[in-house]
Amino acid sequence: MKTVLITGASRGIGAATAKRFAAGGYRVIVNYNKSEAEAKLLKKSVGAYIIKADVRIPHEVNAMMERIESEFGGADVIINNAGISKFNLFTDVTEDEWQEIINVNLSGAYRVMRHGIKPMIVKKSGCVINISSMWGQVGSSCETAYSASKAGLIGLTKALAKELGPSNIRVNCIAPGVIDTDMNGSLSAEVIKELQDETPLMRLGKPEDIAELAFFLASDAANFITGQVIGSNGGFVI
Ligand code: NAP
Repeated sequence: MKTVLITGASRGIGAATAKRFAAGGYRVIVNYNKSEAEAKLLKKSVGAYIIKADVRIPHEVNAMMERIESEFGGADVIINNAGISKFNLFTDVTEDEWQEIINVNLSGAYRVMRHGIKPMIVKKSGCVINISSMWGQVGSSCETAYSASKAGLIGLTKALAKELGPSNIRVNCIAPGVIDTDMNGSLSAEVIKELQDETPLMRLGKPEDIAELAFFLASDAANFITGQVIGSNGGFVI
């Protein structure tokens, strides 16, 4: 049985991805930080293993990765999904806000992967999927730190794909468009309508849209795809 680790899988895209991989026969490890009740629900509903670790904190990530290695021989698939966003003018972004967004969205993925790829290198097999954003591709006004963190994930993905290709490890990015999750929960109905109107497919994405793409990228059907940024955005960015 293959093992998938999904960071930030208590809610939203991560939770939908956990359900998809469980339905596809994987042993699913749900990482969470604050949302313990939601993680416990996934344990109950799809039999996921749940591990609390804040991706900002190196020793918590180390403990999680060591546990996955000792109990399951490492993860066959790692999905770096944990993320946060903040909407404000660049001139208002404080040093703390900047560091916080980079720390979760970009450095968190680094911390997980520096451990997680070691068993993959030994096995000469593995797959990493980084959840970036279309804003990492084209930039979003008033989301500068977020856009920078997601562009950083794209650079990290491409570099690592080159480095790990000879070890038969594939590394790809998914760049979602606007997806209907808590992350967009504070947007007004008017802004949501504008975003829908700007999307050629005329709707927000569902977490399941991203989960399906992640499942495909992890499958043998995608075994010649590496170093790519795959958009799932309803045509918002073409
Ligand atoms: P969400 O509903 O707000 O969920 C965020 C998840 O990240 C939660 O499970 C949360 O866990 C986890 N998380 C946050 N900080 C964490 C930390 N320090 N350590 C561990 N986990 C942490 O967001 P979402 O929309 O599903 O977003 C998932 C990913 O997709 C993010 O990387 C986001 O940037 C990306 N994305 C989203 C959209 C969108 O429109 N929604 C578009 C493009 C890309 P806890 O609640 O347990 O703390």
